Amino acid sequence: MFQILFSVSSVRWFLDGSMLHSGGGETRWNNWVPIKINILLWRIQLLSIPTRERLSHRGIMVDSILCPICSRSVESVDHLFAECIELMEIWPRIAIWWGIQILTQFNVPTLIKWSDYVALRKGQLKAFDVVVMTSFWCMWNFHVVKPRLVGALGFIIRLLPLCYCQDFFLASF
Ligand SMILES: [Zn+2]
Repeated sequence: MFQILFSVSSVRWFLDGSMLHSGGGETRWNNWVPIKINILLWRIQLLSIPTRERLSHRGIMVDSILCPICSRSVESVDHLFAECIELMEIWPRIAIWWGIQILTQFNVPTLIKWSDYVALRKGQLKAFDVVVMTSFWCMWNFHVVKPRLVGALGFIIRLLPLCYCQDFFLASF
């Protein structure tokens, strides 16, 4: 007779293997930012945030698949965080603020791992990662709210301190 051994770790191993797609990259986690921001970055890496492009591919009716901020391109993960003309100014400004080189290749995987490419001390690297991760979170919330009057940079500057309030979560998922 076979005896079936049950353990929590075996179930977790099974679920990880069958349900969670890692996206081929390592999961980044920074304990200096709220969990909601870590989860957003994780979902961005997996391309599983509800962009208009993704919603449309899943058969969900959307009024337009164009980016609601610039109305020039399909709202994809890459467009929203790395290509949108209204938002992409943020990354060079961060580079200037931190006195580091501007990335030569602007895409989402490179931006998420930006701290891997800069020459900063260990504590600074983690703080820089906080800035990058928080910027992703602010950009996502900007796309949800779209406050035309203040613009992206003004919105993000005003939103940054609020990112760390536990009850402040504008994301639509
Ligand atoms: Zn756009």
